[in-house]
Amino acid sequence: MQVCRTISQLQRALAALPRPLGFVPTMGYLHEGHLSLVRQARAENASVAVSIFVNPTQFGPQEDLARYPRDLARDRKLLAEAAVDLLFAPEAEEMYPPGFATWVEVKGLSEHLEGAFRPGHFRGVATVVTKLLNLFRPERAYFGEKDAQQLAIVRRLAADLNLGCTIVGLPTVREADGLALSSRNVYLSPEERQRAPLLYRSLKAGYDLWRQGERRTARIIDEVRRTLQAESKAFRVDYIALVDEETFQEMEFVERPARLLIAARLGRTRLIDNLPLK
Ligand code: AMP
Repeated sequence: MQVCRTISQLQRALAALPRPLGFVPTMGYLHEGHLSLVRQARAENASVAVSIFVNPTQFGPQEDLARYPRDLARDRKLLAEAAVDLLFAPEAEEMYPPGFATWVEVKGLSEHLEGAFRPGHFRGVATVVTKLLNLFRPERAYFGEKDAQQLAIVRRLAADLNLGCTIVGLPTVREADGLALSSRNVYLSPEERQRAPLLYRSLKAGYDLWRQGERRTARIIDEVRRTLQAESKAFRVDYIALVDEETFQEMEFVERPARLLIAARLGRTRLIDNLPLK
């Protein structure tokens, strides 16, 4: 596996890679969720490239940029074992040199839910993903449904900016107890880690109600909230929402493919999760 730290190294390495190229952007501290994307990319392409970049522009001033977990040596080993051809791990100055002034904003999709609780987050995500897709020019790029709103935004920007790349979305990988894998799970204390799967169980209660035929959004959301609150007062909910899978607009009745989403804080850790209703 070639490791590139600069854009000029990256461009030389990319020129030598057989096509089609599958690309997996990450912030590192890799887990099975990331590796599921890498494996799918490996199965569908002649070459696989991964980026590890803790993108400062998608973190708010009060957020966890400084303490975000990092372990490049371990990540390199995991990616080499997964037969990745190229790893790009730039410094922030390489991606945002002095004078950097161009931003990508996806209107409509970026303003509510995660966007409302993390102002500027999706502007940072959309900008860095556009830069990375421009640099790599992959035939396919792989993203997790774990970050479902991000996935919808990336699909929109790839279409709107004619990036000529197929965006592949893959299901959330979970621990045996239902907790969605996340690099941020290391922040959880042992007690919080025990409680954390309740987020998934609450979503599942809403999902089960929908499976039984309930189509009223308010009822389904209520079921999620009641399940969460009945079992624990430890969570502070940012939002529970049920939205159209594509537009992320809220709906009164579930009549189209939809997604049930939750964001909540447990101690100092903010967790998000979602389930498709389809
Ligand atoms: P991150 O390193 O958190 O920015 O995530 C990089 C990519 O991995 C994104 O497309 C995420 O949606 C995806 N991802 C993160 N966690 C999971 C998971 N538990 N299952 C599947 N994909 C995931």
